[in-house]
Amino acid sequence: MISIAINGAAGRMGRRLVALAAEDSDLRVVGALDRTEVGQDAGLLAGIKKLDVPVTPSLSGKVDAVIDFTVPAGTRAAIETCVKTGSALVIGTTGLTEADQKLIDDAAGKIAVLQAPNMSLGVNLLFALAAQVAKRLGDDYDIEITEAHHRFKKDAPSGTALGIAQAICDATGKSITKDVVHGRHGDEVMRQRGQIGMHALRMGDVVGEHTASFATLGERLELTHVATTRDVFARGALRAAKWLAAPDRKPARYRMADVLGL
Ligand code: NAD
Repeated sequence: MISIAINGAAGRMGRRLVALAAEDSDLRVVGALDRTEVGQDAGLLAGIKKLDVPVTPSLSGKVDAVIDFTVPAGTRAAIETCVKTGSALVIGTTGLTEADQKLIDDAAGKIAVLQAPNMSLGVNLLFALAAQVAKRLGDDYDIEITEAHHRFKKDAPSGTALGIAQAICDATGKSITKDVVHGRHGDEVMRQRGQIGMHALRMGDVVGEHTASFATLGERLELTHVATTRDVFARGALRAAKWLAAPDRKPARYRMADVLGL
């Protein structure tokens, strides 16, 4: 059994992590940390049975892995706690600064830590596949990335769409600032060879859809990922926690690609 603690257990992601971990016979939720709902039972908060794990403001001892879905200040606290207790750490929180990244790098000298802005296994595989396809096909194939999200999403393009573009750029020597074109509008916007087009659709309640298209004269290859529930991120984080908690896992900074064996 792998013991885990959820940092942000009262949040949207935290509640799903508690519920999904409770269904998993390899995992035992032993800690539920949050600033709010302190004293409440984490299982009841998550809408499942009582787990006899009260929400507490901090972690008292070592666990196999802490999973953090909070805010950057919560992540910083989790890093400190995990280093102090020798617990592995999975970080899903977004909006981290360069200084936070440095803290993670420093912590990786002492504990196994994994940080990923998108924990979906399918999305992380898509990054690797898109990079491989772009490299193999070359500039004869036009690359266009399209993404669709719900009407409430503030930013565009999505971090995941940028992640696809970054993976392609890393594999082909392109530059995300120079070679990516965001949308097209006007009279003189004909596609240039080697460009990566990026397009964002905002509609209804779409959870998240991403397609990388590779087209030349006569054929088109499309790689599409569709997320239908935010649970994919929680499931990916739980899988990462199990992987990090393996007894032979050395202190280091890991990526979802490592979990997937890519
Ligand atoms: P939320 O606001 O519903 O939950 C955040 C929780 O963290 C709240 O319960 C809050 O009280 C708690 N919190 C805040 N500060 C804290 C602290 N210092 N210590 C402990 N707990 C603290 O947010 P959410 O939708 O669950 O998302 C949480 C984070 O996860 C966001 O950064 C979001 O962007 C990110 N996220 C990442 C992925 C991924 O795949 N990596 C997927 C979804 C969401």
